[in-house]
Amino acid sequence: MSITVRAPAKINLLLGVGPVREDGYHPLDTVYQAISLYDDVTVSTSATWSVSVEPIGEVDCSGVPLDDTNIAVRAGQLLTAHHGITRFASIGISKGIPVAGGMAGGSADAAATLVALDRLWDLQTSDDDLLAIAAELGSDVPFALLGGTAHGTGRGELVEPVADDGTWWWVVVPHPQGMSTPEVYRAFDALGGGGTSTAGVRDALASADLDGLAAAIHNDLQAAALELRADLRGTEADLRGAGVLATLLSGSGPTFLGLVADQDDAHHLREALIDAGHPGVVVATGPVAGTHLVNYV
Ligand code: ATP
Repeated sequence: MSITVRAPAKINLLLGVGPVREDGYHPLDTVYQAISLYDDVTVSTSATWSVSVEPIGEVDCSGVPLDDTNIAVRAGQLLTAHHGITRFASIGISKGIPVAGGMAGGSADAAATLVALDRLWDLQTSDDDLLAIAAELGSDVPFALLGGTAHGTGRGELVEPVADDGTWWWVVVPHPQGMSTPEVYRAFDALGGGGTSTAGVRDALASADLDGLAAAIHNDLQAAALELRADLRGTEADLRGAGVLATLLSGSGPTFLGLVADQDDAHHLREALIDAGHPGVVVATGPVAGTHLVNYV
């Protein structure tokens, strides 16, 4: 028997970062949105843990570990430990979310693996326990389970759905060279600043106010990421040149996002950006559903 579960990429419409805490984490005030780029995770029972990965479209999977450090394997191990059982699975990842792109692809795989194995082995893990295991795996994993649009606090692991009346369209510009999240946070610490509130973004979402959202989206890590990778300024300039309503660095980068008015604009701007030398540009919409079952054979 095998089970396939789909999990979405996330973007942070507002990423407010506070000063580093004593435990080394930064307190976050963020609004997540799940967008229509997905990883599919297929699991079946096996004699040992194993993981394989294949790209969907142009995604470069070379940075994905194929041993026990893959977060999907860690998710499986944590779930079996939680239930006190000894079982193993082979985990196949079809990857449509850019790797190390600030879109939480690894977190999506972890969330999908939890849901898939829970179903495969009929573990009936409660939602609260799944969210707790997810939080242990990583700050972005609980949101990958939840999907939609949500307010994130703590280190991002405490998630609550927020009102979002819009259907938002994005052009997504991945970068061939990923960025290290800890390195971006170190650069942020050196620069100082941050602490931007999510209030403006939440108001704009609740009233489906496109101009309001364009004015309010913001990422406190953006200045630090641009300092580390000056070439991203060119990407941002190309997005503006193509005519997006607003630009935004996704999470800790290097993926850049452009907010556009509708689906037609998104496709036109994608063409313009490809012509400007960004071959990997994709169109995405949000909010979309969180981690969900897609196949059961
Ligand atoms: P972060 O969640 O650290 O901000 P990100 O969203 O930028 O990361 P991910 O695609 O989640 O990017 O990958 C971050 C790193 O995690 C990768 O460079 C890779 O070494 C490691 N990794 C472990 N498991 C996975 C996985 N299943 N998919 C992708 N990367 C993984």
